[in-house]
Amino acid sequence: MRLIPNGRAEKVLRDAGIRLSQKMPTNAAQRIALFESVYHRPPQIAVRAPGRINLIGEHVDYEEGLVMPAAIDRYIFANAAVIDEPEIRLWSATCTRTPLRLPLADLAPLHGTDSWANYVAGVVAKYRDAGVPVRGFDVAFDATLPLGAGLSSSAALEAATALIVEAATGFTKTPRERALLCQAAEHEYAGVPCGIMDQLAVASGVKGHALMIDCRSLEVTPSPLPEGIAVVVVDSRVKHALADGEYAKRKADCEAAVQSLGVQRLRDASLENVHAARDRLGDRVFRRARHVVSEIGRVRRFAEALQGGDVETVGKLMAKSHTSLRDNYEVSCTELDALVAIANSLGVIGARMMGGGFGGSTVNLVREEEAASVAEAICARYRETYGAEVEAFVVHAVDGAALES
Ligand code: ADP
Ligand code: MG
Repeated sequence: MRLIPNGRAEKVLRDAGIRLSQKMPTNAAQRIALFESVYHRPPQIAVRAPGRINLIGEHVDYEEGLVMPAAIDRYIFANAAVIDEPEIRLWSATCTRTPLRLPLADLAPLHGTDSWANYVAGVVAKYRDAGVPVRGFDVAFDATLPLGAGLSSSAALEAATALIVEAATGFTKTPRERALLCQAAEHEYAGVPCGIMDQLAVASGVKGHALMIDCRSLEVTPSPLPEGIAVVVVDSRVKHALADGEYAKRKADCEAAVQSLGVQRLRDASLENVHAARDRLGDRVFRRARHVVSEIGRVRRFAEALQGGDVETVGKLMAKSHTSLRDNYEVSCTELDALVAIANSLGVIGARMMGGGFGGSTVNLVREEEAASVAEAICARYRETYGAEVEAFVVHAVDGAALES
């Protein structure tokens, strides 16, 4: 891959008073200026792809369980233009100072600091495998979504790319088809054996709604978030190195449980099945299966409680989800446990770790009028106790990835 030296984009950002971080969002005009500074001509296509939270249903998507995420108002934005050359030129305000070039003839996975391009290359390759006559394009990404914080920036990057490919070719997919192509890209080009939750949530978000997703049928049922309840995300800003390897180990443990229980996926097992097989499964695999099966049950009860305005049950189920992820699935860490404990001590409706674990974010349900003060208090309390900074922000449920009009 060849790098083109280019310092102009930084200058555009600097002149606009924008630091190269997610903190200060650009507006649409500034993003067009960024594209122009990198590629020296105007863009033709503008898309936005949101990140996602997950209220409950963690580490169950790959066992075809139920999950309850929502797309959120933190985005990856992309401006793009079709080119005649058979290559993709890609630039990200977050990750690169110069555009990378990917020849369409050779979209093999990359390693090292340019590996973020794999998410883009993978999506283009999967669309081509699906028979779409992909074309070359220039693209500039910008983001208000933190990377690697458990808010699915990877799925947002994939969805943004997918929409560009669709706009460039006129071959439009349904949100479900798009999510499946993006998931395949993440598997094969980023090497992450993820479930379908992130891609479906990012593709199918509905403003003001959480999404009940059945990860077997891929049915998405939007469920209105009750008035008066707000969501606060707390980014621990840590990501422990073992996260990726442990993810694969959890999947292997689930597979062992599936074999031993004689079911297709843990979605098909009951808690009684798991308990009856306890000796055969062994302690570790038993606890992994207990987490997945009990968590799926919690999602069902959570959805009912949320709709019925039963905030006490909502809070208890989030607490149980966290405890099970910590003790049965063993994917939490001291930082996440501390953030959940602080949130609970401040009287939130519910709090739990979110995403793959070993760092990333917590999700907190709070009374709307308290949202800003709770967010601030969590940061202050964490700083006082642990001497480290975390970032807390209120998020809102939004529509899924789309072209910007
Ligand atoms: P998460 O999806 O929880 O944010 P992942 O580790 O799955 O965390 O994905 C993060 C990766 O996605 C980054 O390391 C980077 O490769 C890619 N990525 C995310 N956002 C951007 C961006 N704005 N620009 C370029 N690459 C990005
Ligand atoms: Mg991801």
